[in-house]
Amino acid sequence: MFKKILVANRGEIALRVIRAAREMGIQSVAVHSTADSDAMHVRMADESVCIGPPASAQSYLSVPAIIAACEITGAEAIHPGYGFLSENAQFVQVIEDHGLTFIGPTAEHIRIMGDKITAKDTMKKLGVPCVPGSEGGVATLEEAKALGDEIGYPVIIKATAGGGGKGMKVAQNAAEMAKAFQTARAEGKSNFGNDEVYIEKYLTTPRHIEIQVFGDGKGKAVHLGERDCSLQRRHQKVFEEAPGPSITAEERARIGKTCADAMADINYIGAGTIEFLYENGEFYFIEMNTRLQVEHPVTEAIFGVDLVREQIRVAEGLPMSFDQDALTINGHAIEVRINAEKLPSFSPCPGKITQYHTPGGLGVRMDSALYDGYKIPPYYDSLIGKLIVHGRDRPEALARLGRALGELIVDGVDTTVPLFHALLAEEAVQRGDYNIHWLEHWLETNLGDA
Ligand code: ADP
Repeated sequence: MFKKILVANRGEIALRVIRAAREMGIQSVAVHSTADSDAMHVRMADESVCIGPPASAQSYLSVPAIIAACEITGAEAIHPGYGFLSENAQFVQVIEDHGLTFIGPTAEHIRIMGDKITAKDTMKKLGVPCVPGSEGGVATLEEAKALGDEIGYPVIIKATAGGGGKGMKVAQNAAEMAKAFQTARAEGKSNFGNDEVYIEKYLTTPRHIEIQVFGDGKGKAVHLGERDCSLQRRHQKVFEEAPGPSITAEERARIGKTCADAMADINYIGAGTIEFLYENGEFYFIEMNTRLQVEHPVTEAIFGVDLVREQIRVAEGLPMSFDQDALTINGHAIEVRINAEKLPSFSPCPGKITQYHTPGGLGVRMDSALYDGYKIPPYYDSLIGKLIVHGRDRPEALARLGRALGELIVDGVDTTVPLFHALLAEEAVQRGDYNIHWLEHWLETNLGDA
């Protein structure tokens, strides 16, 4: 059993990991930048180490500083949370070279899935259905145009190293191809240091459906159903739910088994998410995330499992504490991402929290690192909290979400809470009847968001 683990992250996800560790009797070490000295994760952990100045590149992304923090405190394992170094194969390699344990998959799994072309190729070979598109990378504009004609417009040009909605451009027709191709390449180069791109058919009415998988690293893997994350702004999720309102038990069992079998095949270890677009009853793989997702709590709610605890267990070499047969769905859960942002522009709105009150009651979970008087620093992601509700069915979960949002008080900064109040009043949201483009259109009509 680990005695002490280090959490290489900040904010709500650092708290999430510290909480799981404490329940398991494991000591936790927080790391923080100088801008985060007063942050809640520092207060809540058993120990903390300052690892650098505010800029992430010199603190939360500094591998030497994080390894040194392990050595100073005697932490045996590192949980990366999401974002920052969570999908960095080199980081995992360095951890292993220092005789420490990474709480997550192997460097090799991260390498395969981190490059989207390799990931797609691997998944295809493992029998997972993919979006029609180029076989591998597309090097020249001529090749891209030929492919556009072959697949049929619209198409999407994607950076193989892309993530977080960056490095993706849509071409509606041949005339738009040159600009889209060059922009996707340039974004790949400037954001991820890699200008390789590939091309996919652009689906016009899909839902975003992702399958939660979990492996023990020894050839056993299970799935924990799907999450529907179709309400997106600029390719980023804002509202997630499980189970997916459009997915039948038969579809869940079938795609879930395909994913679990693929993970068993590659001896996957820990938590992972296989993302699909779903249109007209068909699933199309788009990418795999080899880490815990922001929206994992909705899955925890309906299956009654602690995914972080499981991650720590399998990293120690212990067996998973559930089998596929033991995983049954109970009710419906919804998460909304609350950002410190000013509407309608969604521009970041850091500042001092003058009053904070969290909602409570049956079926309500608030994952947040806020507190009264906390100053949200301007250097990091604007996510300040996740409100998760669980009900016996979808209507009950929606009613509970409205009730809980009404109880939440975050004063001092602007937040995206008003967006969720407005969305809950929409019939399409009440019916669960939307695709990945719905929210963008709604924002244009209702908020004048560009
Ligand atoms: P990232 O790694 O940046 O999150 P993804 O490949 O996961 O990129 O895609 C993110 C989102 O972009 C999807 O949820 C979907 O909204 C949109 N998207 C990606 N591929 C396609 C496609 N082929 N057709 C339509 N929309 C797409």
